[in-house]
Parts: sequence; C-alpha cells; structure tokens
Amino acid sequence: MAETKRYIDGINNKYVSTSSTVISETNNNTGNNTGDSQNNGASSTGASGVSGHYSAGYYSAEEAAAAFGAEVYSASNYIRHEYVAEIYSVTYRNPDMIGQEYTLYYYTEPRVGEPHKANLNITKETVAFVHTHPTKDSFSGIDKDGKKDGEGDLGVSDRRGIDAYMIGPTQNLWYYESGGEIPTDPIGKITPTPLSDDEKKRLVAEYQDSWNDHILKHPNCQDRIWPNP
Ligand SMILES: [Zn+2]
Repeated sequence: MAETKRYIDGINNKYVSTSSTVISETNNNTGNNTGDSQNNGASSTGASGVSGHYSAGYYSAEEAAAAFGAEVYSASNYIRHEYVAEIYSVTYRNPDMIGQEYTLYYYTEPRVGEPHKANLNITKETVAFVHTHPTKDSFSGIDKDGKKDGEGDLGVSDRRGIDAYMIGPTQNLWYYESGGEIPTDPIGKITPTPLSDDEKKRLVAEYQDSWNDHILKHPNCQDRIWPNP
C-alpha cells in the first residue's frame, strides 16, 4: 500500500516527491472524491507574501476555509473542476504579553484537481483540508443508506485525523469533524469573488483539454455545458 509516487502539481508546477497512501477514492462516476497522499515533509506553503504564507492568517480554520472558497469557487464552478488546499495552523507568542499565545490558520496555495477528484498534500502541520464540489452538495464517502462507507472525503478525514471543509454548489460551506457525525446542514455560505473576462479566457484555454478528456471517460457529464455559464 505504501508506495513512492512522484507527480507534477499542474498549477504550481511544483515537483513533489511523496510517499503515498494513494487510494482511488472513486466509487462512481458522478461523486466528488478526494484522494489522499502523504507529503514527505516538504512544505506545501506558497512562497508569496511577506510572511511566507500563501494566504492571510485567520483566527479559525473555518474562516480560512471560507476565504479559500471566496477565492476559488467562481473558477471551480466555471471550469467544473475541484479545487483543493490544506489548512494549517501556526501558534505565535504575543511579544507584548509575556506567556500569551495565539494561533492563526492559513490555507496553502489552491490547486486544481479533476472534475470529481482532488489530491491532498498532508503534512504534520495540516489541521484540515478544504475543497470544492462543482456538482454535488455533500461530502463523498456516504453510502446509499446515509452511512459512512470508509471512502471519499469522510474516509480520508477519519483515517488521517484531520477535519474536512467543502464548498458545494450554491456556495454552501460544509464542515465535517474527523471521526464525527455526518453533517446534515452546511455551516454557512461563502461569497465567491467574480471572475474577470481575462480570467475566464485563461481558464478555458488551460482546462479545455482536461474537460474533453473527462467527458470521454464520463459520458454522463457530456450534456453539461462547458464552461459553466
Ligand atoms: Zn469531495
């Protein structure tokens, strides 16, 4: 099961060496799934920003997840691909108040997965993962009887001991606590940043081939208008 795997991250073009526990999380053609892989200690934090973090720092993982959603949901919806990032925390000492500490939550640079799948880079700092579902407004890993099937988003969350956030269609923000109950309601809504015409053009140019490949393999997606207007 443990195997060494190398892959190119399509967005960052980062060459990542992983010792993976890659599981094909797919159990059907239409579900949205998250595969997991173990990052071999390499920091997945983007290099932009003075602080060395890709995102701003937030006081909770939930706020970081909502900010990720606001940043990427319009693009995810437009090209019908999942976007994913990991949320990690850093605890700081307050220089003005000796002994007092505070924790900020950041998300890694968003990566584009496939229409129904995305891969994780989990490090020891990871506290949660956050991803988008362009089509399905619920986590994957739930069987027909509404029970956890040990796979998909919830299976990864349980096995890796990290919480899961997901932004679904209609911009619902969903939260699953690792090892907890299947959520029946979203915890909030996000407000996606609209795409500019230039961004739309760039996205179509970059992901047209990926979508064409996808509908060859998933004929039931063929009737979907792409890009999603
Ligand atoms: Zn998912």
